[in-house]
Amino acid sequence: MIRRDYLIIGAGIAGASACEGIRKYDKRGSVTLVGAEVFPPYKRWILSKTFLREKDPNLKKLQEPDERWFETHKIETRFATAVTQFNIERRLAVLANGETIEFNKACLAMGSRPVRPPVAGVNLGNVIYLRTVRDALALKEMASVERGIMVVGGGLLACEAAASLRMMKLKIGLMHRDPYLLNRYLDPETGAWLTDHFAKHSVVLSMGESLNGFEGKTVLRNIQTKSGNRFPVGLAVVACGAEPNLHLVRNTPLSGPHGSPVTEYLETEEKGIYAVGDLAFYPDRIMGGVRRQTHWENAREQGLVAGANMTGKKRIRYEQVPCFWTEMFDLRMDFVGDFSVLPTRVDLQGAYAKKKFIARYYQGDKLRAILLCQQAQRDVDSAKTQLRQALGK
Ligand SMILES: Cc1cc2nc3c(=O)[nH]c(=O)nc-3n(C[C@H](O)[C@H](O)[C@H](O)COP(=O)(O)OP(=O)(O)OC[C@H]3O[C@@H](n4cnc5c(N)ncnc54)[C@H](O)[C@@H]3O)c2cc1C
Repeated sequence: MIRRDYLIIGAGIAGASACEGIRKYDKRGSVTLVGAEVFPPYKRWILSKTFLREKDPNLKKLQEPDERWFETHKIETRFATAVTQFNIERRLAVLANGETIEFNKACLAMGSRPVRPPVAGVNLGNVIYLRTVRDALALKEMASVERGIMVVGGGLLACEAAASLRMMKLKIGLMHRDPYLLNRYLDPETGAWLTDHFAKHSVVLSMGESLNGFEGKTVLRNIQTKSGNRFPVGLAVVACGAEPNLHLVRNTPLSGPHGSPVTEYLETEEKGIYAVGDLAFYPDRIMGGVRRQTHWENAREQGLVAGANMTGKKRIRYEQVPCFWTEMFDLRMDFVGDFSVLPTRVDLQGAYAKKKFIARYYQGDKLRAILLCQQAQRDVDSAKTQLRQALGK
């Protein structure tokens, strides 16, 4: 039996930064980081961006932090190893190789996985999902030999993947059930402008089309829509959302319908067990309400906070303004605040035509979110401050 002071499950950015948070306040405690993927923690966000487009991407450059950091800070790492059982009462975790780790404190950082839509053919060959380095490498290979490629979805990942594939001069279609792209975040006018931007880059858009199924014997041949359309394609990239990897704690209080419920200190209702990143359903002390975010900065910051709290030497609340970014074609957009509800009023500063603007989203007279297109980091930081001030936080 292996005994550890700290066990971190999931070697994404949230798990890696939990290690960093621990080491900031506890230099000696024994820490093991277990991750199912073969690779050490890496910049997942790059997979749909330059990584997809580069001819020979350097896998070493992807790492975050550099793999040597774990060695220097005496963190034991076990990659290509899944935790298969998690016994909350006995504080035990069983690894896929049969080993058992007894821990004092644990952090759940298992992230999320792509949603498979509830239609026929989701497991056919050439129907692919983009989450890991392996997925991205496979997509690069397949995209180079397939003629018709359809991206299914209209969210951040779908748009980024479509833009990158199109920048590789491939013929790309995109089908989305809603009338405009990024409709979960954008107001209709900004959404229409972005959709038009994709059309101008020759992405063949099928808006308002719902997926009915993927057809083919073993490999994809057609995509069928609910309206009865049939698109003959050789490859589909499905990006219909990400769901939390909760199987390890299913049917326990550590698993809820929206993620793993945690306090403002990112601790679950089991003392000493924390949840972070894409997995955590946390109280948002800035915007109000309870939410789960599936964005990089949130995962990184939550890991740091939970790691510090795990040591018992700190008691830090997680209170960050929600913030994420995206890149598609020649655009970089930063989203600061709460985009979950459509604004009642939008205050636009700048111009869509110049592809450079700031849109402030209001609910009544309350500022709730700020969208920045092609702005500098200092403007993003200032947007966070404006929101805090507007909310009196
Ligand atoms: C292609 C792509 C592009 C993105 N682009 C952006 C972007 O531009 N901006 C942005 O803000 N966000 C972006 N995101 C989202 C961002 O990458 C995630 O929010 C972030 O990676 C979440 O980090 P995490 O550590 O919580 O989870 P993950 O990154 O999902 O890592 C969790 C890890 O835990 C492992 N694991 C799961 N179960 C087990 C188990 N039982 N045992 C051991 N290990 C396990 C998984 O294999 C995985 O390696 C993107 C995501 C993707 C997929």
